[in-house]
Amino acid sequence: MNREERQIRENIIAKCRWMNASGLNQGTSGNISARYKDRMLITPSATPYDSMKPEMIASMPLDGEYGSWDGPLKPSTEWRFHLDIMRGRPDVGGVVHTHSTYATVLAIARKPIPACHYMMAAFGGTDIRCAGYARYGTAELSELALQALEGRNGCLLANHGMIAVGANLDKAMWLAVELETIAKQYYLSLALGQPHILGDAEIAETAQGFSTYGLQDPKPQTKAKPTKKVAAKPAAKAGTKTRAAAAGRKPETKRSGKR
Ligand SMILES: [Zn+2]
Repeated sequence: MNREERQIRENIIAKCRWMNASGLNQGTSGNISARYKDRMLITPSATPYDSMKPEMIASMPLDGEYGSWDGPLKPSTEWRFHLDIMRGRPDVGGVVHTHSTYATVLAIARKPIPACHYMMAAFGGTDIRCAGYARYGTAELSELALQALEGRNGCLLANHGMIAVGANLDKAMWLAVELETIAKQYYLSLALGQPHILGDAEIAETAQGFSTYGLQDPKPQTKAKPTKKVAAKPAAKAGTKTRAAAAGRKPETKRSGKR
């Protein structure tokens, strides 16, 4: 394993720990994958994040024998949709799957999320679809998920949870947080009654604004360990910084080249 691959594996583990610490996920129900060259690196099945080591991350070929893997532990039981997304969506470099509470509540009610907030534009369209139900880990679930993700960067999974995808793992995790946030906002607005939904033109206008604001390509992030070599860097772009703050994320730091 070279240094670059090890860093991606470390980032996967850091993201797993972060999503549990932040409340986005519970236990080992979530799983994360990242593209590395012609392979997919994915969290192993039912392994507590605290004891996870880079060597335990499973490595699966994107174009080789379907479902084969390298590593000491079996890949996540949800490897199928991770792999099928990576194979079917060359634009995707990272996939985050969680059973985050509000997204799952809407998925239980089988409610897609309409454009209740302008941040919907970050997901590539005017809604977040809810994929139909199929048992976890099945090819059928993977097929339903891919359909719901068509032209989108996130979807709900009926009576299960959600998936967020991005050009890299950092962006996928950013969108996972955004998805859960919109789900919570939509749920609460439904409770209040009569939420107003934005129109297609308003979402298109926002998407255009994002593209010129640098929001389509947020600064790469890692959950850096608090070592003296990892100094917090100011965000390069004001837009990125503002967006991070609005998303409620901790200021991200970039891993030092000396690590
Ligand atoms: Zn799941």
